[in-house]
Amino acid sequence: MDNFFTNNHNSNIFSIKIKQSLPIVIYPHPILRQKTEDIKDPTKPEIQQLIQSMLITMKNNNGLGLAAPQINQAKNLCVIDFQNKIYILINPKITFFSQEKNVAEEGCLSFPGKFLNVKRSNKISLQYLTVSGKRKKLMAEGMLARIIQHEVDHLQGKLFIDYTNSK
Ligand SMILES: [Zn+2]
Repeated sequence: MDNFFTNNHNSNIFSIKIKQSLPIVIYPHPILRQKTEDIKDPTKPEIQQLIQSMLITMKNNNGLGLAAPQINQAKNLCVIDFQNKIYILINPKITFFSQEKNVAEEGCLSFPGKFLNVKRSNKISLQYLTVSGKRKKLMAEGMLARIIQHEVDHLQGKLFIDYTNSK
């Protein structure tokens, strides 16, 4: 019995449990059309746990981004993994969209195998809360700006198939 406990002393059974990958919600699941609820206190353990699970789920699915509705949580939160940098965006709000736009192909974990050309602003400005609840601003352009726009759309119940006139 002693051995049992000793052997497991340093194992991270608990963290494996909370860091498990979650199933991705596939369109047309209704939650993908729901508007999300703001997160009042990002430091709450259940929110921190949700963020960890989202990061693992994004990584396991080779996603560039993942929004909470895609793991069946109507919460205003998304994560992005772009050029070896992780962005955790809580209650994100895009405050500026450049007039200049570009068209590029996008995929979405909730639409396996579907790729569409979507027209989006080249540059954006964004406000959001960090994991510790601090207000932050971010300016982004190019591919990062595109990913952020795609993920923030998810948080409003908007999907890339809605950009039918993108040419
Ligand atoms: Zn998506």
